[in-house]
Amino acid sequence: MFYICTTCGVQYDSSFQHPKKCVICNDERQYVNPNGQSWTTLEELKDSSYRNIFSQAEEGLYSIKTSPTFAIGQTAYLLQGTEVNILWDCISYLDEETIEYIKSLGGIHAIALSHPHYYSTQVEWAEAFNVPLYIHRDDKQWVMRDSEHIVFWEGSMLKISQDITLYRLGGHFKGGAVLHWGNEDGVLLTGDIVQVVADQHWASFMYSYPNLIPLPASKVSEMVEQLKPLHFDRLYNAFHRSVKEDANRAVQRSAERYIKALDGSLLNI
Ligand SMILES: [Zn+2]
Ligand SMILES: [Zn+2]
Repeated sequence: MFYICTTCGVQYDSSFQHPKKCVICNDERQYVNPNGQSWTTLEELKDSSYRNIFSQAEEGLYSIKTSPTFAIGQTAYLLQGTEVNILWDCISYLDEETIEYIKSLGGIHAIALSHPHYYSTQVEWAEAFNVPLYIHRDDKQWVMRDSEHIVFWEGSMLKISQDITLYRLGGHFKGGAVLHWGNEDGVLLTGDIVQVVADQHWASFMYSYPNLIPLPASKVSEMVEQLKPLHFDRLYNAFHRSVKEDANRAVQRSAERYIKALDGSLLNI
């Protein structure tokens, strides 16, 4: 059986009995469910009332989310590039209806992941579409189900096609990646490597979101410095929040505010 952790939604390598504990949830960036560790399987999920909901975020970009919410509840994105279609990040629930709908949108040619919290059933998706699965090598230790579909990329960037490039920013996870799409009028998909906050003109950067552990100022500076030369107007996180215009500038000023908050100069306390 390929067991899935019900708290983070990550699927493990085949075993007769479920794993003793979830490695992802026992890391301090996640948490073990206060009611205890529990497991399910994709087959069990298919026998429940789950389905995937598609919504168009903008032309060529669709979010895919499971309803009712399962595990962390993130959204994946289907991106229709000029040369290839990409699935950005992943969700645990996958059924025939989802596969058929994605095929009707032109299918996918590759899957790329921002970081381990969204690995979910990524291998099931890669097998269903027979496509490569791009994961940064720095996060290899967090892959809980091996597959020949996985391509571990290295370094600070990977150009997938003429208009789609992955950048390794690190921060939340060492191999934490974002996807840049387009040229002048570009889009940045960030998972939660760069997080859109409640005021959607701003972003934030954390080591742990559920446990509220910040990143050091030096790391945040390094991350946004890498983004500075890129052109992107809109930025989408993994929870249907987006910066709708002038997104690169919003990221830069958010980093300045964050660093001032850390050194105390922002706050009247
Ligand atoms: Zn877990
Ligand atoms: Zn995360």
